[in-house]
Amino acid sequence: MSNTLELAQALIQRRSITPDDAGCQDLMIQRLEAIGFQVERLRFGDVDNFWARRGQSGPLFCFAGHTDVVPTGPESEWTHPPFEAVVADGQLHGRGAADMKGSLAAMIVACENFVAAHPDHKGSIAFLITSDEEGPADNGTVKVMEWLEQRQEAIDYCLVGEPSSTDRVGDIIKNGRRGSLGCVLTVKGIQGHVAYPHLARNPVHQAAPALAELAATQWDNGNDHFPATSFQVSNIQAGTGATNVIPGHCEVVFNFRFSTETNEADLRQRTEAILDKHGLEYTIDWKLSGHPFLTAEGELVEAAQKAILNTTGKPTQLSTAGGTSDGRFIAPSGAQVVELGPVNATIHQVDEHTNAAELDTLERIYTDTLKHLLAE
Ligand SMILES: [Zn+2]
Repeated sequence: MSNTLELAQALIQRRSITPDDAGCQDLMIQRLEAIGFQVERLRFGDVDNFWARRGQSGPLFCFAGHTDVVPTGPESEWTHPPFEAVVADGQLHGRGAADMKGSLAAMIVACENFVAAHPDHKGSIAFLITSDEEGPADNGTVKVMEWLEQRQEAIDYCLVGEPSSTDRVGDIIKNGRRGSLGCVLTVKGIQGHVAYPHLARNPVHQAAPALAELAATQWDNGNDHFPATSFQVSNIQAGTGATNVIPGHCEVVFNFRFSTETNEADLRQRTEAILDKHGLEYTIDWKLSGHPFLTAEGELVEAAQKAILNTTGKPTQLSTAGGTSDGRFIAPSGAQVVELGPVNATIHQVDEHTNAAELDTLERIYTDTLKHLLAE
């Protein structure tokens, strides 16, 4: 049986629902120490993380990923039990098969193969692994990056194993992600009787034209890598439930998904200028969940593209679509970052699965990427 498949099964059989690692990292560490990696376990709060490195010199290539998985939902709805790692009709079934224990297995086996063929490779290979990617992500990758910065260890190339592919493994590489900026806006009015509006101030009437202007604003035009920044209202709440009361306040929740043509400070300033122009009395609470990042070109993108072509005979496409990922914590350090992993069609779903043969393809893509960057 395939080494990668066997390891992926062993990882799936460990029930590592966020933030519980359930021994997945022990298993990975054992395999990495056996081929000469120095490992540092880093527990922050209730989260297990580790940093492993083989080599002292640069460039530093890092595989990044997570051992935690999302909950299964009702296990009775699964065709195959979610933690048994059953292979049926060429598909590996189980929670984490695609997101992202299959990738973790492929990374480890790729390193074993690469190190066997190139024991004196150039630079260094590293692993940055967390068990809190699917949860709050406060004690995971972000903390390991702070720890690395204190040690003045800088990643040059980072390959995140998130399931980036759409129809077949390697058809899509994510070379960036949009930023996400959320906001809770509370517009204050004066509550009163609808029959005596001169004694009240209606916050819905005041908020509406300001929201219309925010929704109609062209924040930027995007660029070659990103679509234009979008503003979306997700919630509006006001009113007491009574039909004869003007509400005292109106709460609006909205979110920006933004390109590299703008930034947090610019969006905040332009939003507040519009609110001020409309004369609103308001409080505002901003929350940035990720800066946009982009690795437009460079050795890492080139190496991954070549590796995919060599391995599958087919070209790949670069994309920045989709939600946020831990790449947002790594890219600000200046590292080149790409996400390259299995097909994402069933991630977070009941009956999550991945094509078992494609895990071997993924392992060969990873091995070939290492060769392009670090073969002596
Ligand atoms: Zn994931």
